[in-house]
Amino acid sequence: MSVDSSDERAVRAAVVAVARALAPRGLTTGTSGNVSARVDREGVAGFVITPSAMPYETMTPEALAWVALDQPSIDDEPPLAPPARWVGPHAPSSEWRMHRDVLAHRPEVHAVVHAHAPAATALACLPDVQRVGIPAFHYMVAVAGGDDIRCAPYATFGTAALSAHAVAALEGRTACLLAHHGILALGVTPEAALATAVELEALAQMYVQARAAGTPAVLDAEEMARVLERFARYQRPVWD
Ligand code: 13P
Ligand code: ZN
Repeated sequence: MSVDSSDERAVRAAVVAVARALAPRGLTTGTSGNVSARVDREGVAGFVITPSAMPYETMTPEALAWVALDQPSIDDEPPLAPPARWVGPHAPSSEWRMHRDVLAHRPEVHAVVHAHAPAATALACLPDVQRVGIPAFHYMVAVAGGDDIRCAPYATFGTAALSAHAVAALEGRTACLLAHHGILALGVTPEAALATAVELEALAQMYVQARAAGTPAVLDAEEMARVLERFARYQRPVWD
């Protein structure tokens, strides 16, 4: 069930629970990664997001920043500038633009997880993966919504360029790799986005092992279309 974006307390609690689950689920280390979810405030569309460089173990729901979706032009801002319209006790994640742009482009998405998941990030450093993504070596590649998992080209963290690459790589998809950086996973709730991130990292571990053992065979487009068609029904309890 999707969380009502007007219930700010519930959304904040869900975001912090997912942020605190990143390390125990093997998806990130230290303060890397960030989590956001839609919250409207007094009729203004926006989202709550984890603060920049804050340890997850001590993070509380009150520590999150609220950021308006509607921000002034961001192209010529200095590096790591906070958004113009935000509220909170701590500066929002340096990746607020990436979360903002994904949520602005994808009305059906309510939550975004970014992590430096080790196996997926290792793959995102390989030139062939950067070019063609993770191919359909396993049917669960469909968890990202297509017959491959794309890799967004590299751009410096926190920049509008990275955000634009991520939005493009996520077109019609629910997850992608970020070259030399990490992963993004989307969902209708923070928990759903986390589940997709966990699945992506498990697939990445399998793909690393398969590549180490030989040359993985790839399922054809026809089979992946069948899988995606089945997923549309199989995943309904998770995505509704
Ligand atoms: P923040 O601590 O600012 O969220 O940044 C972590 C990160 O993963 C940057 O890409
Ligand atoms: Zn990052």
